[in-house]
Amino acid sequence: LIEVRGLEKSFGDHHVLRGVDFTAAAGTVTVVLGPSGSGKTTVLRSLNVLETPDAGLVRIDDAVLDFGAPPADRASYRRAVTALRARSGMIFQAHNLFPHKTVLGNLVEGPVQVQRRDPDEAAAAARELLAQVGLAGREDAYPAQLSGGQQQRVGIARALALRPEVLLLDEPTSALDPELVGEVLAVIRDLAAERWTLVIVTHEVRFAREVADQVLFIDDGVVAERGGPEVLTDPREERTRRFLARVL
Ligand code: ATP
Repeated sequence: LIEVRGLEKSFGDHHVLRGVDFTAAAGTVTVVLGPSGSGKTTVLRSLNVLETPDAGLVRIDDAVLDFGAPPADRASYRRAVTALRARSGMIFQAHNLFPHKTVLGNLVEGPVQVQRRDPDEAAAAARELLAQVGLAGREDAYPAQLSGGQQQRVGIARALALRPEVLLLDEPTSALDPELVGEVLAVIRDLAAERWTLVIVTHEVRFAREVADQVLFIDDGVVAERGGPEVLTDPREERTRRFLARVL
């Protein structure tokens, strides 16, 4: 379902991604770990084309873009970017909800304005999603009236409201007070149990062990080790071992 081949990205003369390769099957959870600055966020943002890689290929389902050989004409390129973006939803460290819209307003904005869905249908779907993230009855609240954990759960519901194939989560709990981390991890655990396809950058190694079907250890812009959850307990590579010893 997800295929990444030979992804390269430089910021100026800083070569951040040096040929990242992996695949992820539908209905699985991929956890991305690695030292600070190793390129994890850049990989995730490339899947959503929030960053434009210099080379390499990204495929999600039937949407594909080869950044090394992009479509020559601008319209075809834009179509390919839009198709990729439509297949993934992104959850950032901090929720970035629209502050002047209610919770329900945040959830229906994309489906109605971008996807041209029926407002009543979108609102009904949004209420179901709010129940799913444990926020039934909070549709009229404004983001500032919610805790950080609740805001992040609304952020997850908002991404799901666009019905993506894949959910990309970039350190979804790292900006939260410690006592709010558990409620957000519980929502992600539920999504994993429902067989959503998830790619999660996280430093929560214990949580990763619980939910990961696949683990990618990224170091210095490459996938230094890839495998099942055993990578987290019994890594093959010395640098994975050293990293885990530091974070556990
Ligand atoms: P962390 O765990 O600290 O979030 P990371 O593994 O997610 O790190 P990235 O955020 O992908 O790492 O960043 C990789 C490198 O690229 C870092 O050195 C970062 O400073 C640099 N970088 C990222 N985005 C940009 C940008 N827009 N302009 C310049 N440099 C950037």
